[in-house]
Amino acid sequence: MARYTGPVCRICRRHGLKLFLKGERCFGPKCAIERRNVPPGATAAAGQRRRKVSEYANHLKEKQKARHIYGVLERQFRKHFAEAERRQGVTGANLLRVLESRLDNVVYRLGFADSRKQARQLVRHGHFSLNGRRTDIPSALVKPGDLVAVMVKSRESEYFKIVQEGLARKSVPNWLTLDPPAMSGRVANLPGREEVQVPVNEQLVVEFYSR
Ligand code: SF4
Repeated sequence: MARYTGPVCRICRRHGLKLFLKGERCFGPKCAIERRNVPPGATAAAGQRRRKVSEYANHLKEKQKARHIYGVLERQFRKHFAEAERRQGVTGANLLRVLESRLDNVVYRLGFADSRKQARQLVRHGHFSLNGRRTDIPSALVKPGDLVAVMVKSRESEYFKIVQEGLARKSVPNWLTLDPPAMSGRVANLPGREEVQVPVNEQLVVEFYSR
């Protein structure tokens, strides 16, 4: 399946803020935003100059930001947007709810991976089950009551042994419950907008697709 393989720190620099795409490195001094927060290809002086951008460019940038945060390609993102439109309620909040309910995001939020990218890879390699069935589809959407667990065989691997040691110290969002000894987590409900801590103006994304 296609995925973005370019340098991810460039994406943060383009948006001028930390999107936490790389896991542990994002919290250390090696983070590109901490070291040199200017857009790719710009000098420090040019990076500080403000350029006038069109409304379209603003909408596009916000949509791209949301897409990059969740590591979703355009086609899949459009599908998620269509799903958000189908659901009752505010489309923008629905979109974030759909993105948050992706299996790879839930694995990341539960603390089984340091980044969504790593979570996607772990899911794709078959290390997780959804309601007792092995699932290797990162874009699978979870529902309230669903149980996400590390496969029994995978728990014996060195990676998951280290993860388990750190799980008790992880804090998970209120809409998820984590059971560290069982290496599993349950979806209590789907998050409201205020529970989704991502720097995205979802209304601009809606307006982008509503042109
Ligand atoms: Fe973004 Fe993380 Fe790279 Fe920092 S280290 S620029 S937060 S991806």
